[in-house]
Amino acid sequence: MADGTTERTGEPPPSYVFPTFGPELFEALRQAHPERIVLQVPAGLVRNAHDLAAQLREETGARVTVAARACFGACDFPSRDEAPKSDVAVVLGHSPIPNVRVVRATYFVEMREASGDPEALAATIGRAALPARLGLVASVQHLDLVGPLTAALERGGHSVRVGRGDRRLAYPAQALGCNYTGAEAIAGEVDAFLFVGTGQFHPIGLALAVDRPVWSIDPLQGELAPPIDRATLVGRRQLAVAAARDARRWGILVSSFAGQNRMPTALALQERAVARGRDAEILVFDRLDPKDLEGRALDAYVNTACPRIALDDGGLFARPMLTPPEFLMALGELPLAPYRFDTYH
Ligand code: SF4
Repeated sequence: MADGTTERTGEPPPSYVFPTFGPELFEALRQAHPERIVLQVPAGLVRNAHDLAAQLREETGARVTVAARACFGACDFPSRDEAPKSDVAVVLGHSPIPNVRVVRATYFVEMREASGDPEALAATIGRAALPARLGLVASVQHLDLVGPLTAALERGGHSVRVGRGDRRLAYPAQALGCNYTGAEAIAGEVDAFLFVGTGQFHPIGLALAVDRPVWSIDPLQGELAPPIDRATLVGRRQLAVAAARDARRWGILVSSFAGQNRMPTALALQERAVARGRDAEILVFDRLDPKDLEGRALDAYVNTACPRIALDDGGLFARPMLTPPEFLMALGELPLAPYRFDTYH
């Protein structure tokens, strides 16, 4: 489906990419002479945010404000309204999303992680007897490990493939929680995927996107997690679809964040709903709070913003919440199987 990120004219403000929060970034900022910097940090760095802001202030001489709203990706960097006086943004923990236009000069600091011993990780994987043909996927922090780990795995007898995704992904092998198109491109050539990174967020999304076993390895701890139980994940989503099938009045949710706005998709879904005899109201928001949906005379929702809101946080909402493909399943326009992940292009 179309997204709302391409209907723009003129030259976008520049984006710059830095691997770490350090001298190279500070020197580039000094050269740019910003008056005011807005600093955005991901949840894992909130505790350090004020030390980082102080360091930025000291190194650049600029005024620095901290964007306090929780952020989850490069899709929701501080808007003009949130930081109207800032001429520069420093966004930590994310790579740019190539098809999302920034609103001011933006310095993405990917927080690349240097640690992780490829030989030791390959040995751990070898002992677990993973399938021979593996697809590698990584979060941006651990992308530098993909090359050395590929070489180590191949020395151990694996065949390893790395896919290049669509215009929402900056690097081969990279995954976003809403986009696994790099993995999808090679799914037919591998027997399993190995996610390189920490936590369950990316492996769960990957397991919903590709019908292959998804293992994951934490490169810092050296721990290999068993494959995600895809059948249970998909079964839960099919139950959510079934629960919403008879809903008459739908709310179609649209976010105003730069990289989460799919208004054209929302309008297309509204048309489909009306064609199937349903009512469908479009609701706009920036960051969705379950309280904002309380007390509404609506039976169910379809969420066109971050797909992971419905998939991971759907239980926080009082009414069923589906992704766009799941909504089409509920309308009877798509079959329940094979399950279709809501890829955000
Ligand atoms: S839309 Fe969701 S999953 Fe995708 S980058 Fe944004 S926060 Fe992450």
